[in-house]
Amino acid sequence: MPTVDGLCAEMRAQGRRVTPQRRAIIRVLQGNEGEHRTAEQIFTRVRSMSPDMSPATVYNTLHELVEMGALLELDLGLGQRRYDISTPDHAHLVCLEWGRVEDIPCCDEALTLPPEYEHGFRVVDCRVVFRGYCPACAFPEEGQEGAS
Ligand SMILES: [Zn+2]
Ligand SMILES: [Zn+2]
Repeated sequence: MPTVDGLCAEMRAQGRRVTPQRRAIIRVLQGNEGEHRTAEQIFTRVRSMSPDMSPATVYNTLHELVEMGALLELDLGLGQRRYDISTPDHAHLVCLEWGRVEDIPCCDEALTLPPEYEHGFRVVDCRVVFRGYCPACAFPEEGQEGAS
């Protein structure tokens, strides 16, 4: 995972603006690695540390980081998109009841396009999402055995 300084340098190299606000947003994203927050949650967190931060600044910065490929924007079927500071390819395990998202180190074979489908296609991205219900949600009565 790139450092805050590394990401800021990359933004600058691409001719993007690096302001103290943007740096603060990137720092929050780095600090929440693996948490898959919504834009709103990220905004709330950033705002708690930088009260002057405007929503537009946060949303624009997220958008640019996604464009750069430094931030994953994930539609996990939970209604709101989640943001994931880029780590090497991984899959997601999603509990649809709690909206809890877990990173799964993937699964290289599953992410390979079978050669017969390649026909010159250059794959740049592949998303694997396992969606379902964690044990606590699927079997809420468990742990109260003998009650029925
Ligand atoms: Zn993730
Ligand atoms: Zn659950």
